Amino acid sequence: MSMYNKKSVEDIPALGGKRVLVRCDFNVPQKDGVITSDKRIVEALPTIKYLAGKGARVILCSHLGKPHNIFTEGFGLNKKEKKALEALPEAEREAARTEMLEKAKKDGKKFTLRPVAERLAELLGKAVAFAADTVGEDAHAKADALQDGEILLIENVRFNAGEEKNAPEFAKALASLAEIYVNDAFGTAHRAHASTAGVADYLPAYCGYLIGKEIGIMGAALENPVRPFVAILGGAKVADKLNVINNLLTKVDTLIIGGGMAYTFLAAKGYEVGSSLLDSEKIEYCRDMMKKAEEKGVRLLLPVDSVVAATFPDPIDAAIDVETVPSDKIPSDKMGLDIGEKTRALFADAIKSAKTVVWNGPMGVFENPTLAKGTIAVAEALAECDGTTIVGGGDSAAACEQLGFADRITHISTGGGASLEFLEGLVLPGIACLQDK
Ligand code: ADP
Ligand code: MG
Repeated sequence: MSMYNKKSVEDIPALGGKRVLVRCDFNVPQKDGVITSDKRIVEALPTIKYLAGKGARVILCSHLGKPHNIFTEGFGLNKKEKKALEALPEAEREAARTEMLEKAKKDGKKFTLRPVAERLAELLGKAVAFAADTVGEDAHAKADALQDGEILLIENVRFNAGEEKNAPEFAKALASLAEIYVNDAFGTAHRAHASTAGVADYLPAYCGYLIGKEIGIMGAALENPVRPFVAILGGAKVADKLNVINNLLTKVDTLIIGGGMAYTFLAAKGYEVGSSLLDSEKIEYCRDMMKKAEEKGVRLLLPVDSVVAATFPDPIDAAIDVETVPSDKIPSDKMGLDIGEKTRALFADAIKSAKTVVWNGPMGVFENPTLAKGTIAVAEALAECDGTTIVGGGDSAAACEQLGFADRITHISTGGGASLEFLEGLVLPGIACLQDK
C-alpha cells in the first residue's frame, strides 16, 4: 500500500542471463554534442554495476531533451514554419516531425544518446553497445546478441511518438526487449510515459538504487518523521509550490516560507509588497493556509524583514543597490529579493534545532552575491543541523553545491519536479507501477 516500500534490484531472483531493461535519467546537459556534466550518468552507475555484476544482460534506456516538441525546442523553426506545421492535420504533422527528427539524428548532435554510451563506457571501463533505434531491428539484434554481464544503450525513447503518450504498443515493444524492468529515473517518475510506467504492465518491475534511495529517505521523512519536522519553501515558482503547502501542513511542526513565494503570504496579511513577485490569484489561498496552520498548531514562519531593490538585477549577477526593510514596510516602488538579517537568524534557529528538514526553493535571488545571504544562511543551518536534511528542487540543489554545503546534507534529490510532487503527497506513476515489497 505504501508508495515508499518497493521491491529493489536486490529482490530480483536469479539475475544471471536475464535481460533487464533499465530506465535511467540520462537527460544530460550538452553543448554541440558534447556532454557538459556527466553527473546523471555517474549516479546511474551503482544500479548498472550491480546488474551486470550479477550476470544480467543490461539494456538501458532514457529520454534526452524534447524531440517531440518541434514547435518550441531544438529544431530552430521560424514563426512562419511553425505556423505552417500547426495548420497541418495531425497525421501530416507527425510525418513532418518524423522527417525533421531523422534529419536531426543524421547530423548526430541533437537528441541522440550515442555520446552517453561513450561516456558510460569510459566510466565503467568496459564496452557499452549502442542501438541506433529504440525498439527496431538494431535494438532487437543487439539485445539478442548480449552476453551475460554485457550492456546495451538504446536510442532516445522520445524518438518514438508512443513514449509520452504512454501508448500500450510502444510500452509492449519496449517490454519485448527484456524479461525484467527496473526504473531508476527519479527525475521522470512523476510522468506516466511508456518507459517510466507503461512498460511495467508487461514486465515484473523493480526500483534501482537511485529511486530506492529517493523514496526511502523522502518517504520516511513524510510518513514517519523524527520531530521536530521543519519544511522550508522558497523559490520563484509560486503557483506550483503553493499546492505543496496544503500537504506539508498536515505533517510538519514548522513551515518556513521565504523566497519569491513569501510575498503572496505577506500580501494576504494585508501588507504592501511593492513590485515583489506576487500571485494575486492565490492570496485567498494563502489566507486559508495561514488559518489551517493555526488550526493544526503548525508554526508558520514568514520573513520579518526583506532585502529590497528598485529593479530586478540585469544581468542577474549585476551590482545592485539594496536596503533592508521590515516586511510590513516594503516601499511601493521596491521589490523584495532576499530575506533580511533578522529573518535569517529566525529561520536558522528553527532549522538548527530540527530533527527532520525538507528544503525546496532558494530564499532569494542567490545567483547574485548581494542577494545570496538568505540562501547561504539556510544552507548553512541545514549543514549544521544534526537531523535528517533533505533538499529538493533544481535551483536549491545547485545552490547547495555552489555554496559548498552539499556534502553536509543528508540527501539532495535528483528530481526537481518529481520531488515536489512527492512532497505534495501525489502518487508518482513511475513509482506506483513498481512491485510492492
Ligand atoms: P527550485 O529549482 O529549487 O525548485 P525555483 O525554480 O522555484 O526553485 O526558484 C529558483 C529561483 O527563484 C532562482 O532563480 C531565484 O533567483 C528565484 N528567486 C528567489 N527569491 C526570489 C524573489 N524574492 N524574487 C524573485 N525571484 C526569486
Ligand atoms: Mg528551478
